[in-house]
Amino acid sequence: MKCYCDSQKKFNECCEPFLNCSSKPSTSKELMRSRYSAYILGNGAYLVTTTVDENRYEDDIKLIQEFSSSVVWLKLDIINEAKNMVEFKAYYRDRDGVKVQHERSNFIFKNGMWLYIDGELFNSKIERNEPCPCKSNKKYKKCCFKI
Ligand SMILES: [Zn+2]
Ligand SMILES: [Zn+2]
Repeated sequence: MKCYCDSQKKFNECCEPFLNCSSKPSTSKELMRSRYSAYILGNGAYLVTTTVDENRYEDDIKLIQEFSSSVVWLKLDIINEAKNMVEFKAYYRDRDGVKVQHERSNFIFKNGMWLYIDGELFNSKIERNEPCPCKSNKKYKKCCFKI
């Protein structure tokens, strides 16, 4: 089966070894992808353990799991990347329609592993003429767009 992170790779050759801790991401992008997969799977523990100590809150495990189960994740687009930064758009559907989280995440390599520090959020919207994030091959305005 294909990986949840839209890499087109197989799950067991992509994010699965990171999520089950048999391997560690070697780049910030791999970590970012595996964190997206963890959101889809509601794996709050993975998201918390891959965050830097100072931003790590055990309570987040529950909050993340609640959020993940209330939405359907649709698509991940990586827009830009550098050694310590990944900018992405993650699309999901909630009760009100399709939404996009556009974030520039900062990462650090510490004690032999990549960790998430924090992210800057952008107020982006889905353009009416862009391909629908639900991967229907229709334009957004002719598919999941709601007024
Ligand atoms: Zn993956
Ligand atoms: Zn759609």
